[in-house]
Amino acid sequence: MSVNDGGQPGDGLTTVRVPGDKSVSHRALLFAALAEGESRLEGVLPGADCQSTAAALRAMGVAVPEVSADGAPFTLRGVGGGGLRAPDAPLDCGNSGTTARLLLGVLAGAGVPATLDGDASLRGRPMRRVTGPLEAMGARFREKGVMDRLPIRVLGEGEFRGGRWVLPVASAQVKSALLLAGLLSGRPMEVEEPGLSRDHTERMLRAMGVPVRTARVGDPGGADRWTASIGAGPHALAPLDLRVPGDPSSAAFLVALAALGGAGKGLRIEGVGLNPTRTGFLDVFRRMGVDLEVIPDEVHRGAGDAGDAGDAGDAGVSDGSDVGEPTGTLLVRPSRLEATEVGGREIPSLIDELPLVAVLAARARGVTRIRDAAELRVKESDRIAVTAQNLRALGVTVREFPDGLDVEGTEAPLAGRAPAHHDHRIAMAFGVLGASPGCRVEVDDPAMVEVSFPGFWACLRDCAPRRPVVTLDGPAGSGKSTTAREVAARLGYLHLDSGALYRAVTLALLEADRSGRGRPEAEWSELTVEELEAFDIALERGADGFRVRVGDRYPEAELRTPEVTERVSAVARIPAVRSWLLGAQRATAREGGVVTDGRDMGTVVFPDAEVKFFLVADLEERARRRLAETRDGGELGAEADRLARRDREDAGRAVAPLRRAPDAEELDTTHLTFEEQVSRVVERVRGREDSHRGP
Ligand code: C5P
Repeated sequence: MSVNDGGQPGDGLTTVRVPGDKSVSHRALLFAALAEGESRLEGVLPGADCQSTAAALRAMGVAVPEVSADGAPFTLRGVGGGGLRAPDAPLDCGNSGTTARLLLGVLAGAGVPATLDGDASLRGRPMRRVTGPLEAMGARFREKGVMDRLPIRVLGEGEFRGGRWVLPVASAQVKSALLLAGLLSGRPMEVEEPGLSRDHTERMLRAMGVPVRTARVGDPGGADRWTASIGAGPHALAPLDLRVPGDPSSAAFLVALAALGGAGKGLRIEGVGLNPTRTGFLDVFRRMGVDLEVIPDEVHRGAGDAGDAGDAGDAGVSDGSDVGEPTGTLLVRPSRLEATEVGGREIPSLIDELPLVAVLAARARGVTRIRDAAELRVKESDRIAVTAQNLRALGVTVREFPDGLDVEGTEAPLAGRAPAHHDHRIAMAFGVLGASPGCRVEVDDPAMVEVSFPGFWACLRDCAPRRPVVTLDGPAGSGKSTTAREVAARLGYLHLDSGALYRAVTLALLEADRSGRGRPEAEWSELTVEELEAFDIALERGADGFRVRVGDRYPEAELRTPEVTERVSAVARIPAVRSWLLGAQRATAREGGVVTDGRDMGTVVFPDAEVKFFLVADLEERARRRLAETRDGGELGAEADRLARRDREDAGRAVAPLRRAPDAEELDTTHLTFEEQVSRVVERVRGREDSHRGP
């Protein structure tokens, strides 16, 4: 992944590239290993799934070099179709369904005995869809654990006859496994499927000199049926010279990010694979109102491409890589989204993007319906259930069906946790939502994205316009804290109540004094930074803001007792206290997106904050609010005196006195309702966000 802003000056779009296509990378490694001669591969996805394929090939005697993190080119000397060695130990396919299913076909066709296994998630996924047809054609397997699941041993005996198989559901993995079994056994193979699933295998094998035919076959029912076939062998595979196109499924996350407004004025995503069996999401996104342009790359067909694309040709789309895979650039801008309906024949070409469609739907006008997608339940997670649960946890209304979802769009702030359930695409879909305006989403297992999109989180950060830092300063009782908290919630920003820090120091000092271990109150002004450090006071980031920790507890009510409130202004004028707290406060805003309130936030702590307010209100009104807030029924005049004294202390001190920053907007809240206060601030921040986001 790489990001830069300088690509095409003028249009404000940020230029990005996505990692290599996962499906193409698996096949490139596997087919190059089976080729006769040396292949050159570039841009191979270094993610965990492709590493599983590489490791399995190494275990069978293929010298696969390290797949580098930056997609640098490397060469791979193939062992030929008959050259795979039986591995000494079970082949660990990790989390990768493609590795397991393609290898089942390869091993069965080549007659190489081996046991395939995987992680807990892969062990939960069905395998008979592959072993069933292979068995019917003479291959033999032993299921070593649970029926239909890994671990499975390919016995490597019996005679594989090849044949013809009709898939009940279009599936690239099953189709590829069968074609590979035919290729390696030298027996003819024909696979028919309802609808054309990804055809990377057919394209790459053709580029390597194997005559694979693809044809659309008529169906009286009207629906498209497709066949892929390979004649009797032997077939030798010529080596590859391949630059793997950017993964359209990874690009989809960035398209959604830009459409949701999480990438400033938008993105230019270059080098994206545009194989029509993969780009169904582009049609659906367009239908949802995504502002999207597709610019196909120049045509340059590779020498190895037999040009026999059968009926699966890509009229109007050019080929930008060397194995007949079209590529291009996507331009995406922030968009007003509308609900849509997704189902039927469209599903196979966007199966991986459906969680993302659901996430876009959460921000679209109306109810989006996704149907005919039961297959989603047996992916890396039950993607229907998990998407529904996560969206609901954030506050979206969702109805779950056996084969899909209804998602009701909302403009309300969305915040909460979204467990990834060991599923990279779930982690990324909710990561994208979390990076969009008005949302704050915590993904519990961020490392999962390494499977298909290494560098995903850094990419989100790099694409994001910096969210403003918002400061609300003012005298005590002007309503800063409650306003700041609500503003943060509505914007999906984090809230920092700086007063709580001064209160925490005051509490710690009082407790130390009382226990006889600390300084007496009369000497607090001589405090040193070392003494303060011993209190172990820190700010910890939670889902919606920062909490103050004192030692091993999170005091809340204790920070607001009269003993603390009476002394806090005196403590806040001690220079050591102020300088010690400065670093911790500044650290909270490194990534922007923070709403802070206090006395010196806009002047000293964040002098560069993008949005600054100075809240004021009549003393009497402030006293009234304070009493209402604390509900201890004090006397109005006395409360006003207490506030006035604190104002004097805060405004009169030498260090960081309470005053309005020259660039802060003064907001007199005396006659404003809470809602009015909050929306004034929110509107200004939104205006600021939009100025980064373009038209
Ligand atoms: O806002 P709150 O009333 O909780 O603040 C308690 C005290 O902490 C204030 O009266 C002020 O003396 C001090 N403070 C400060 N600078 C800040 C925030 C609070 O001096 N940024």
